Amino acid sequence: MFGLWTGGGEAAVSQAAYYGLFALQHRGQQAAGIAVTDGETLDYHKGKGLLSDVFALNTLPKGIGALAHVLYSGGKVRTANAQPFVVSYQHGAIAVASNGRLTNAAQLREELAKDGAVFSSGVDAELMALLIARANGRGLEESIQYMTSRLEGAYAAAFMTKDALIAVRDPYGLRPLAIGKTEDGFYVVASENCAFDAVGAVFVRDVKPGEIVRIDNSGLKSISVNPAKKSALCVFEFVYFARVDSAIDGLSVYEARYQAGKRLARVQPVEADLICGVPDSALAAAIGYAEESKIHYGDGLAKNRYVGRTFIQPDQSQRVRSVHMKLNALQSNVKGKRVVLVDDSIVRGTNSLQLVDMLKQAGAKEVHMRIASPPVRYCCNLGINTPVMQELINAFLTVEEVCSQIHADSLCYLGMEDLAAAVREAGSQGSESMCMACFNNESPV
Ligand code: AMP
Repeated sequence: MFGLWTGGGEAAVSQAAYYGLFALQHRGQQAAGIAVTDGETLDYHKGKGLLSDVFALNTLPKGIGALAHVLYSGGKVRTANAQPFVVSYQHGAIAVASNGRLTNAAQLREELAKDGAVFSSGVDAELMALLIARANGRGLEESIQYMTSRLEGAYAAAFMTKDALIAVRDPYGLRPLAIGKTEDGFYVVASENCAFDAVGAVFVRDVKPGEIVRIDNSGLKSISVNPAKKSALCVFEFVYFARVDSAIDGLSVYEARYQAGKRLARVQPVEADLICGVPDSALAAAIGYAEESKIHYGDGLAKNRYVGRTFIQPDQSQRVRSVHMKLNALQSNVKGKRVVLVDDSIVRGTNSLQLVDMLKQAGAKEVHMRIASPPVRYCCNLGINTPVMQELINAFLTVEEVCSQIHADSLCYLGMEDLAAAVREAGSQGSESMCMACFNNESPV
């Protein structure tokens, strides 16, 4: 999600939103959209696919504000679910974009339906728009406050009207949201601060858990903060989801992965000749593992740069095929060697099985899997959307059984304490507690 407000003057806002969103493409590859306002009206374009499938750069209109979104749902996607979700209500048009997942969406949907609401999508952004519209004549800020009082679960959301851009983060701070400023003094909001560099902006601060921030022609102000019951930033952002050049709530994603790799080498050492990482999300952990173990680090897998995140494929046979399209063993590096393959996590186990087989077919003597996070045993309903338990390879099998299923010579995971410590080591501030529900089933919500 990416938003920008100029402060009144017309500028190439949708082009900037395109560049900002491009840096966030890893957060969603199923649909993309940009809404723009010129201060009088609000227009938008959205569709299924990657940003580059949906937009041509030279057709993006100017304006004073833009709100952009890439969709990740974890399942099949409908065109209607593309965001920003744009509707008109009593006070004019509003665009809504949201990242995360509400845990009370079904109840809200039922309540709104009984009240006569009609729906055109299955996304939380639509429920948010309907709640704002039903805030009984209150102004925009109060309507958004009312809306947040009705939401439960994980959300980092942004709302744009012809007058303002408003950013909101759930009281647990489950999903990230940051504020930046361009050289021209335009405020920007983004799911990750790596998007700021893409538009020449600098990081100002993170939106606080529970905070509502308003940006308009008079600048930025914090409207209110719903104090967090317990801060619970999602640990999977550090394990896999976020880009390595981002920092979330003051914690560097690269550093967290690197420290996790170092800890993994300390607690799960193995005699080997070569340490490799699964590109791209496990490379920082693999470098950490190699440095700590003093074993040579090198490429064991070559990556086709034109293939995106393969777990998003809707069925298993496509997922298997895409692993082969995306990665290939580097025979010259691995032949005759005892290889340690570091990966960020094992969810279904599709990747691990294919990769171990690939390395062995390329002549690796042994393949030892080292995973820079604990076994994913529970599905996530807070935005990462890890699949139903039946699909999680770690949910019903022991580590030894998983090891034999993926054909590895050994398999070890990083423990929960070590992962939490690695994330803490990645910055000076950081939240005192994190959501690790996919590993321990302890959902904060
Ligand atoms: P696997 O399912 O074990 O083949 O893992 C696929 C890769 O996708 C791993 O690096 C996972 O961390 C990553 N991944 C991230 N989010 C998800 C998700 N929601 N479902 C499945 N895999 C995911």
